[in-house]
Amino acid sequence: AVEIRAVNKFYGPFHALKNINLSIPPGKVTCLIGPSGSGKSTLLRCINFLEEYDDGAVLIDGKQIGYDAPGRKMTAKKLREMRRSIGMVFQQFNLWPHMTAQENVAEGLIRVRGLPKAEAMERAAGALAKVGLSDRMGNYPSRLSGGQQQRVAIARAVAMEPKLMLFDEPTSALDPELVGEVLNVMKALASEGMTMVVVTHEMGFAAHVADQVAFLEKGELVGVDEPSRILHHPEDPRIQGFLRTYH
Ligand code: ATP
Ligand code: MG
Repeated sequence: AVEIRAVNKFYGPFHALKNINLSIPPGKVTCLIGPSGSGKSTLLRCINFLEEYDDGAVLIDGKQIGYDAPGRKMTAKKLREMRRSIGMVFQQFNLWPHMTAQENVAEGLIRVRGLPKAEAMERAAGALAKVGLSDRMGNYPSRLSGGQQQRVAIARAVAMEPKLMLFDEPTSALDPELVGEVLNVMKALASEGMTMVVVTHEMGFAAHVADQVAFLEKGELVGVDEPSRILHHPEDPRIQGFLRTYH
């Protein structure tokens, strides 16, 4: 589980996250929605400390990430260890262009986990099978569609056996006809009980797959609730206004 407690984040004088409190329950899907610039990516990146928060705490299974004590940053080594349990998938797929799909997935298993190459390649094949890419394992990224590349990126993250997966608009860079295949892979991952935090503009995904939806605006967490209540019967006018732009 992840506990976000009274987190504040500034970019210089700009208050990007305003006293955010949010519980991410284990085995559930939490979607973060809100207008552009509301702080969704910033909040997501605070969870694995890709973005430093200024005060408050982010606890991963009870242990604070980023700091050993108030104001004392943890060593890079400790941070790396904590990050091992967290996978992340970005809007841009960030695959190595000079490696095949299978080599892309195997790379972390070899470099970070220290697996022998043969075993890493075997595990990579299994991870790619799970995202429906058994027949594309030998392809270089330039020979894969955007949807296939993003599925490789998901397989690469999941192969590391994280306890938590963070997604930042994983389908935003895709042509509309390729969005579904990526969302289906994410749905399957959710149904296996993966803890997921997903920044998304896909309201259908949020409505059908999320266990809770959090709405951010101007750095403020305006509401968090089960999807049917937030998406279909929002009380806050800011959420109503935002959702109207989707119809
Ligand atoms: P989008 O939907 O467009 O991705 P977002 O909700 O993810 O938006 P963030 O990227 O978290 O928004 O940004 C929140 C605010 O912080 C924005 O106003 C942005 O301009 C600002 N911001 C983000 N990163 C930086 C930075 N490195 N330096 C200064 N300001 C930043
Ligand atoms: Mg963003």
